[in-house]
Amino acid sequence: GKVVIAIDGYSGCGKSSTAKAVAKALGYTYIDSGAMYRAVTLYFLNEHLSPGNPKDVQRGLEGIDISFQINPDTQKQETYLNGLNVEEEIRTMRVSQSVSEIAAVAEIRQAMVRQQQRLGKKKGVVMDGRDIGSVVFPEAELKVFMTADLETRAGRRQKELMEKGDLVDLEEIKTNLAERDRVDSSRAASPLLKMPDAAEIDTSNLEFEEQVRQIVDLAQK
Ligand code: C5P
Repeated sequence: GKVVIAIDGYSGCGKSSTAKAVAKALGYTYIDSGAMYRAVTLYFLNEHLSPGNPKDVQRGLEGIDISFQINPDTQKQETYLNGLNVEEEIRTMRVSQSVSEIAAVAEIRQAMVRQQQRLGKKKGVVMDGRDIGSVVFPEAELKVFMTADLETRAGRRQKELMEKGDLVDLEEIKTNLAERDRVDSSRAASPLLKMPDAAEIDTSNLEFEEQVRQIVDLAQK
């Protein structure tokens, strides 16, 4: 029968593209939890709200409505913030540079986790993030922890950004990935960690199709 698949791991190791392909192969729903933290971050930046100010956090959470919609032309899932398509904007370095600070706020995490748990109510879900196997779906039938060396991750991310016409220096990307991993792993509220029951997949030397197949195989066991 259908299960819940939780994919966690470091920034930029291909969790979301892998999770998407796994969902497609299995006929599951894919949910990008990172997109939700990115949308919150965009709102805080645009409204000049400070994650360190409890009043701002409350105001931010009250003002935010996040949803996902399938683009009928591309069949790709896109992120909406208060009715506006923000899929492109949430992937920019501007957002990447502030998201971990926003995601460290316990009240923001609580609100996101609640929505993620609602979205994942029915089985047949692949969700990727940092706390999916530990907090959002601790009962997930399959937990995967993805890693890859920093050099590989930065190179892949640069290529991805380049394809969108966004030229970013490799060193800047490396610094951002390493810094996000540091903040995500050391925060008090549900830090990124490998769960003991998670299967670790190091994608440094794997072809994309191979890492997808490994997870699909695990799900079908
Ligand atoms: O997955 P992605 O890299 O888009 O996530 C962006 C950021 O959102 C992460 O660096 C992390 O700070 C935060 N995040 C999180 N918990 C999740 C998903 C993302 O804290 N479940």
